[in-house]
Amino acid sequence: CVTSQTEISTTVSQYACQRRTTTENNNKIFTEAFEVLAESYEFNEIEGPCLAFRRAGSVLKSLTFEVRSLGDTQDLPCLGEHTKELIEEILRYGRSFEVEKILSDERYQTLKLFTSVFGVGPKTAEKWYRRGLRSFSDVLTEPSIQLNRMQQTGFLHYEDISRAVSKAEARALGNIIDEAVHAITLDAVISLTGGFRRGKEFGHDVDFIVTTPELGRERSLLPDVTDRLEQQGILLYCDYQASTFDMSKLPCHRFEAMDHFAKCFLILRLEASKVEGGLNSTEEDSRGWRAVRVDLVSPPMDRYAFALLGWTGSRQFERDLRRFARLERRMLLDNHILYDKTKKEFLAATTEKDIFAHLGLEYIEPWQRNA
Ligand code: ATP
Ligand code: MN
Ligand code: MN
Repeated sequence: CVTSQTEISTTVSQYACQRRTTTENNNKIFTEAFEVLAESYEFNEIEGPCLAFRRAGSVLKSLTFEVRSLGDTQDLPCLGEHTKELIEEILRYGRSFEVEKILSDERYQTLKLFTSVFGVGPKTAEKWYRRGLRSFSDVLTEPSIQLNRMQQTGFLHYEDISRAVSKAEARALGNIIDEAVHAITLDAVISLTGGFRRGKEFGHDVDFIVTTPELGRERSLLPDVTDRLEQQGILLYCDYQASTFDMSKLPCHRFEAMDHFAKCFLILRLEASKVEGGLNSTEEDSRGWRAVRVDLVSPPMDRYAFALLGWTGSRQFERDLRRFARLERRMLLDNHILYDKTKKEFLAATTEKDIFAHLGLEYIEPWQRNA
């Protein structure tokens, strides 16, 4: 029914933090096409159109209906001319020639392949591509290339890490981390965050926040946890970054992608016997274990709500929360603080609900943040 769709469309906000986006995507055919274009712009460091396509995709993901005609998109925000052309093309032919051209492009394919390795970002991928390298065996047999420890591990566990992590595996890892933090301190607090907190069935890693109520005590928590995992023989890789958090240096006015909390990027060995229903692995794989990526972050307890909100994502949801705070409220939001620029004061929060309330936003549940 056209009327009710139009009614819905008129109320769609340009900000993801004012939309409810579940994991059910009714417009995959469009959003997957947009993502290819966004990625291609990203590889070419063209930021504007890249963000525009991500924003457009995010709007379509929030719709409770499938777009069936260009008219359906008439009142939607964030859809530019290029996006509309693409939608029209997909509606007419069931696919986009522009997208197919990119997918068959050698440079795109190579950069996509190289950046799929843990530890290889767009810069390194580009460097390898310019040297004429096109495959993993090209990279691994090129004598002049020195892989760092992260990249070596990335290649070593490539197949395992590329395979999606299931909910059952995430639960098993939750048990392992829970056991470890509580063995170190009884009052430890652990919460699942990232995509699995948003209700996703699969993820590329599992993200946890671990901390303790005793302020300052969290600083030694992660080294203690990783020591323990190592003693258990399940620590395959650990990149630990100590805290550089300093409240007196906040608010920070320039944009930073990373926060300052202690964190570690891990690869753990997960035994099949610990996973209800078994591992998400191929049938011929009879090792009985797999390697999995796990992220741990450890904020001081008084920063917990901000860290939880920041690490729950999605990335697009986070971007729009910050943009909304800045443009609509003259406030600065990041993983550490919420700062009111008009009143020149920090706003306190112990829960995510407090932060939404300070921002004058309706509360959006984690499973509605899949923007
Ligand atoms: P996936 O299932 O692919 O893992 P995800 O949403 O969990 O999806 P992640 O890359 O694990 O994606 O990131 C989870 C959240 O943590 C995101 O909101 C991201 O902004 C945040 N995040 C990730 N890495 C960092 C970092 N180094 N510093 C600060 N925040 C980060
Ligand atoms: Mn994740
Ligand atoms: Mn992560």
